[in-house]
Amino acid sequence: MENVYEKYGLKQVVNASGKMTILGVSKVSDDVLEAQKFGGQHFFEMSDLVLKTGQHLAKVIGAEDGVVLASASAAIAQSVAAVIGQGSMHHVYHPFDERYTNREIIIPKGQNVDYGTPEEVMIELGGGKVVEAGYANMCSKEHIEMMITDKTAAILYVKSHHAVQKSMLSVKDALEVAHKHNLPLILDAAAEEDLRKYVDMGADIVIYSGAKAFSGPSSCLTLGKKPYFDWIRLQSKGIGRSMKIGKDNILGLTKAIEDYLEFGPETGDSMKERLTPFVKELNEIKGIDAKIVQDAAGRDIYRASVTVNNEAPIDALKLIEELKKDSPAVYTREYRANMGIIEFDVRAVHESEMTMIVDKIKQIMK
Ligand SMILES: *Cc1c(COP(=O)(O)O)cnc(C)c1O
Repeated sequence: MENVYEKYGLKQVVNASGKMTILGVSKVSDDVLEAQKFGGQHFFEMSDLVLKTGQHLAKVIGAEDGVVLASASAAIAQSVAAVIGQGSMHHVYHPFDERYTNREIIIPKGQNVDYGTPEEVMIELGGGKVVEAGYANMCSKEHIEMMITDKTAAILYVKSHHAVQKSMLSVKDALEVAHKHNLPLILDAAAEEDLRKYVDMGADIVIYSGAKAFSGPSSCLTLGKKPYFDWIRLQSKGIGRSMKIGKDNILGLTKAIEDYLEFGPETGDSMKERLTPFVKELNEIKGIDAKIVQDAAGRDIYRASVTVNNEAPIDALKLIEELKKDSPAVYTREYRANMGIIEFDVRAVHESEMTMIVDKIKQIMK
């Protein structure tokens, strides 16, 4: 294979930031690539491929129904359109027609986040009208309940580290309110790892990004209850056409999910083990205090948290800039760099790359 980095003059990238869209999210395994190759080199009756891969995944996970879509963002838009149109073919062809009056999608204010695009853009793309519940720092069951009207189409809950965590109602709370009012709960669980938890709780539409936790190709697995999935699949004849997924990625994600169910993700213990020598070496660099920390959203993910202290010649913001400058560019988690803290997520980082990172930081800090 010709060297793509050289041909186009691209920087090589070490991804210590996690599953980030700006870097291509994740790497697929050889088995997943094989499945994509088979998909790419064969024909199928596409509606059957979509239906049967989705139903197969739903069955092995224990959901009523499911479908593989192009992305979690596409799934949000199409789920919103689905609950507004409720299977109407007229609605599929005229998704923004005024006769569809029940368009309100209630979302906790602290969950209307920008994950690369704002949640509300995808809601509106599906024809939804955004109704925020609660406040920037809190949302309770009551806050949701008081926003429900006869125009409400669904409640959207975003389970994500991007969202406000404090004083936030739980998924279970949101589900209780939704079902008490005969409304579906759409759960954006894009980066979540547990494929059974929310389906078992009874969530109606649960959305997982394929390339995040499951290291699949660019895709999405959406799971949940009938009749929503007939309505979602119908969107492929309407707005969903602009979000079409290829047969290669449908088969790639299906394989990635099967492998994930069989082998699971790297465990937190394994991450801690790999991080221990890394953190030890980082601590030997003057100006750096490193320790192992758990994911803020409580997932079984551990990272190296690096504080750039007063003895350092440069601050954390300058350090991340220097790390990204030359090839291979090292990308870290930057969310708290303004407070002097950088995190290294090593799920997609090899031991030899960790050594390279330590050397690079030593150079920069000289
Ligand atoms: C990443 C992410 C998405 C979007 O996933 P895509 O598959 O890239 O569209 C949606 N919601 C949240 C909370 C995310 O983190």
